[in-house]
Amino acid sequence: MTNNESLRYKGMRKRLVEQIANRGILSEKVLLAIGKIKRHLFVYAGSEHLAYKDIALNIDHKQTISQPFIVAYQTELLDIQPRDKVLEIGTGSGYQACVLAEMEAEVFSVERIEKLHEKAKIFLPKIGYEAINLHFGDGFEGWEEQAPFDKIIVTAAAENFPAKLGEQLKIGGKMVIPIGPQGEVQKLMFYQKKDAKTFLCTEASNVKFVPMLKGTK
Ligand code: SAH
Repeated sequence: MTNNESLRYKGMRKRLVEQIANRGILSEKVLLAIGKIKRHLFVYAGSEHLAYKDIALNIDHKQTISQPFIVAYQTELLDIQPRDKVLEIGTGSGYQACVLAEMEAEVFSVERIEKLHEKAKIFLPKIGYEAINLHFGDGFEGWEEQAPFDKIIVTAAAENFPAKLGEQLKIGGKMVIPIGPQGEVQKLMFYQKKDAKTFLCTEASNVKFVPMLKGTK
C-alpha cells in the first residue's frame, strides 16, 4: 500500500470515530480502538472504500462484519478492563475480537463456520493480533475449558437467552446479546450476573444481527 493510501484510510478512520462519538459513544478507549484498527483489511477486496462508513458489510458465508457503531456500543456496555477474560460468540471477520484485544482484554472467540474460523486463525496473527484465542464450535456451548468469563459478547441474534453462556459468566460479570426473532429486529440486551441464578437485565436498543444458529458447519 502506498503512503498516500494509508494516510487516506487514516483520515477516514478519524472521521468514523467522530461520527461514532457524535452518536453517543463516550468511552475514549473504545474510540481509540476503532481509530486504530484497519477495518479495510477485514472486508472484501473492492469494498475497502466502504470500510469506514458506519455500516455493516458482507463477509464470506452470508455473514457480516457488524456496523462500527454497534461494535462500539456493545463494547462500551461491557465496560472492558485490562485483563478481563472476555468470551465472544461469532468471530466472523475477527474485527470485534481485535477491538477487545486493543482494550487489553484476554479474548476468547468462538465461531461455528469452520472456514471463517480457519481464515481468522491465519489473518489475525498476520495483522498483529497473535494473542486472540480462537475456537471452532457451537457458541451455544460457550467455551467450557476457559470458563468462567468476566464478560461475554454475542454478535449474532439468539431467540432466547443461551443458558450455558449464563453459567459461564462470573458472578458480577456482564453480558451483551441481541435477543429476538431471526431475520427481524431484535433487542440488544444487557445482563449482569448477581448470583448463580439471578441476572439483572436491561434492554438497550433495537438492532439487526445475523442469526445465532445451532451446531457447526
Ligand atoms: N463479530 C463479528 C461479526 C460476525 S457476524 C465481526 O466482528 O466480524 C456473526 C457471526 O456469528 C457469524 O460469523 C456467524 O457464523 C457466527 N455465529 C452464528 N451462530 C453461532 C454459534 N452458535 N456459535 C458461534 N458462532 C456463531
